Amino acid sequence: MTNRTVDFEPLLRRTAEIALAYVESLPDRHVGSRQDAAEIADRLRVALPDEAEDPLAVIERLASDVDPGLVASAGPRYFGFVIGGALPASVAADWLTAAWDQNAVVHALSPAAAAAEQVAGEWMKELLAIPAGASHGLPTGAGLGNAVAMASARHALLARVGWDVEERGLYGAPEIQVVIGDEAHATVLTALQYLGLGRARVTRVPADEQGAIRADALREVMRAAADRPVLVVAQAGNVNTGAFDPLEPISAAVRAHGNAWLHIDGAFGLWAAAVPRLRHLVAGSERADSWATDAHKWLNVGYDCGFVAVRDVDAHRAAMVSEASYLMRSEASRENWEWVLDSSRRARGFALYAVLRSLGRSGVRDLVERCCALAARLAEGMASVPGARVLNDVVLNQVLVRFEDDDDRTRAVIRGVQAGGEAWMGGTTWQGRAAMRVSVSGWSTTEADIDRTVEAITAAARN
Ligand SMILES: *Cc1c(COP(=O)(O)O)cnc(C)c1O
Repeated sequence: MTNRTVDFEPLLRRTAEIALAYVESLPDRHVGSRQDAAEIADRLRVALPDEAEDPLAVIERLASDVDPGLVASAGPRYFGFVIGGALPASVAADWLTAAWDQNAVVHALSPAAAAAEQVAGEWMKELLAIPAGASHGLPTGAGLGNAVAMASARHALLARVGWDVEERGLYGAPEIQVVIGDEAHATVLTALQYLGLGRARVTRVPADEQGAIRADALREVMRAAADRPVLVVAQAGNVNTGAFDPLEPISAAVRAHGNAWLHIDGAFGLWAAAVPRLRHLVAGSERADSWATDAHKWLNVGYDCGFVAVRDVDAHRAAMVSEASYLMRSEASRENWEWVLDSSRRARGFALYAVLRSLGRSGVRDLVERCCALAARLAEGMASVPGARVLNDVVLNQVLVRFEDDDDRTRAVIRGVQAGGEAWMGGTTWQGRAAMRVSVSGWSTTEADIDRTVEAITAAARN
């Protein structure tokens, strides 16, 4: 069988049927997986075939072998982590992205991919109240978006004190004081480790009981930093509570310092900027130096698609591009690879573009508002569940619930809900206590789904 004689038609048509059956099953599927990875691997692990197998047969077999290990995280009653599904426009655009197989690295390889990333990025900045002049890139997720933005900060802060960090590294460099909140996301710490800034050297600012940085404590840290370069990483949307660091006083304190940079990790919370009623939560974010968010969480673009933007375009590019490769860039146009850590990669811009256009400004607003309203409905529903108590102020889409004020009891209820298959949410530890974490981030969740979930939690709590 040579490539030339492969018949795509039966393969892609059958694949579309399998995919369609899956997305149509989402509302009724057992939400968690029904088998673990070892069981799935046992079925997948045949002897590595010597001979070619028919692609259609391979796909049929793959789809049935892995099915019990699939998690219906794209469905309406998945509330684990902060996830979100894939909107229809996203799934369809990703099919085309696979068929087109564009390398999004440079214009020369795909003017189409370059244009989609350009326009989608302009729309993202507009929606999220990021200055139009900022540069942007599409990393795999907000985690690497944080790393890209913090690398840009490292460049700018050290350049201002006469140090070329890309050329000389950090050996002998002036010290940057890195300031994060006590409840910063784990990926902020991994970014510090990637960047040679050190996890243990970081200054942690105390947070309030919702997990938001205390502005007075931050101001104190900034004063004590005197004239040292300072990188402040603030958070829009705590992964447990949904709380926002107070960005207005934080940005004011950063601006008042002579050589400081404010990065905002807004993986899902930055989407509050797209909703007039919620915008006050991110007031001050427009004064930041850099922003990271995700399209694959609350915007419901399929995996993977993050977003990073940097006010200082030159710092962003200098941090990502080496001098040798810098010479290869075209002067005329924006090259996708100059704003992220990857070189060759998937054309993430098509699905992002398709989703933004299929939702429109009002659709994005409705999606975010609806998830918040549904989170509030679930929190209200907890009032009738025996022993349940909501631990956080439900300001966004995140709800933390504890049962009978007991760690073991709480974990048992979480396990009970997961095993029932009606809904799925995970556990977390909030301020030393076990809690159920509910994140309402999916486009397809309805009030009826929330009510079914409250019933499932009630049943597990009665057991
Ligand atoms: C999810 C999340 C991240 C990491 O995003 P990825 O998409 O996993 O890379 C970073 N910060 C916060 C606050 C998050 O919620």
